[in-house]
Amino acid sequence: MTMSALGEPCVLLKLGEIVLKGKNRELFERRLIGNIRGALKQFDFTVDVRKRHGVIAIFLPQGSTADRADAVAQRVADVPGLVWIHSAWQVPKDPDTVLKAGLELFRDRHPATFAVRSRRRDKRFPLRSNELDRLVGGAINDEYHLPVDLKNPGLTLHIEVDRDEVFMFTDGLPGQGGLPVGSSGRALVLMSGGIDSPVAAYRMMRRGLHVDFLHFSGIPFTTSESIYKAYALVRKLDRFQGQSRLWVVPFGKAQQSIRTSGQDRLAVIAQRRLMLKTAEEVAHRIKAHALITGDALGQVSSQTLANITAQDHAVDMPILRPLVGWDKTEIMAEARRIGTLEISELPDEDCCTLLAPKRAETRAKIEDLKQIEKRLDAEELAVQLADSIQEYTL
Ligand code: ATP
Ligand code: MG
Repeated sequence: MTMSALGEPCVLLKLGEIVLKGKNRELFERRLIGNIRGALKQFDFTVDVRKRHGVIAIFLPQGSTADRADAVAQRVADVPGLVWIHSAWQVPKDPDTVLKAGLELFRDRHPATFAVRSRRRDKRFPLRSNELDRLVGGAINDEYHLPVDLKNPGLTLHIEVDRDEVFMFTDGLPGQGGLPVGSSGRALVLMSGGIDSPVAAYRMMRRGLHVDFLHFSGIPFTTSESIYKAYALVRKLDRFQGQSRLWVVPFGKAQQSIRTSGQDRLAVIAQRRLMLKTAEEVAHRIKAHALITGDALGQVSSQTLANITAQDHAVDMPILRPLVGWDKTEIMAEARRIGTLEISELPDEDCCTLLAPKRAETRAKIEDLKQIEKRLDAEELAVQLADSIQEYTL
């Protein structure tokens, strides 16, 4: 057997929006590297995550297979803050070895055309990037009689000359984009078993928030199904951030008092305000600084502009609504992409169906809501509800 010129498999990561950061860039990068290490804890081998100039490299234990690099790449593709993830080869830094490695990489591939794209992050390397392109491209062309097509190549060989090694790769997985989870702080997601709130959670994780999840169940008047669903959704979403917690509020009795205390048509908004007040109380306790909901403007009667305003007035904490301008079809496509749709579509007994009036108010008046809340003693009730939460850790 001849020695391979390809060296060791590794994984090369391209950063997203972080590269636009000025002074804080270092902080973001450190957080991102911490998140990558956290995501890779699931493997039974240790990795070496290194910051390079403008990229991050993951080195694997000596003798690792390319399959192992692919598994690491797959896992890291879920970590927000990255735009491209490449299973790559870490090749010794001399032009002759790079050339041999290029030939090896094309040995079992049969594209119609190809291109070589080099980048020289270390300017001390003896060949400029266009010289390296021509050297390696020429050799591949001679050896396999493969035509070059720079505009629309069937396969592109990327060669990146770095500080200590040359990275070579042909394929890549698109990353999640966005910012590293945790770089924007913590927030609390109001998580139903529906389609929208898991997507809202994902979009805000991608903007750098680490989120906790809060679910209101109709217990004791409904079954636990909605809790299982919320739990399954949180499990599905955990791969994007890690260390997720689900908090469950038994909400059935409070809903019953809402029903008996006011006008039928306002019950849904009154209940939503009570959820928000409870969520705000929980958020203070877990040191979260914003609430997140899956509201989309006009999607249902509780999401008219007037009713969204009435909900904003229930709490002091900001309510983030990342889906406010999204169509249902867009939300569903995203839910399918992140894998939550099939869980959300399972049947359950949503606590909200307990309170479905024949005609819901589309223009709730805050004064009327305050009347209901006075009778309920809503502020005190929210504290009691927050006292009754149960934690589910993954
Ligand atoms: P979803 O698909 O997220 O359930 P939806 O279209 O069904 O949303 P609503 O039921 O009006 O809309 O809920 C609007 C938002 O209120 C939800 O996205 C969620 O953030 C919050 N919410 C509703 N029900 C609950 C619940 N039982 N527990 C926690 N949050 C809830
Ligand atoms: Mg819902």
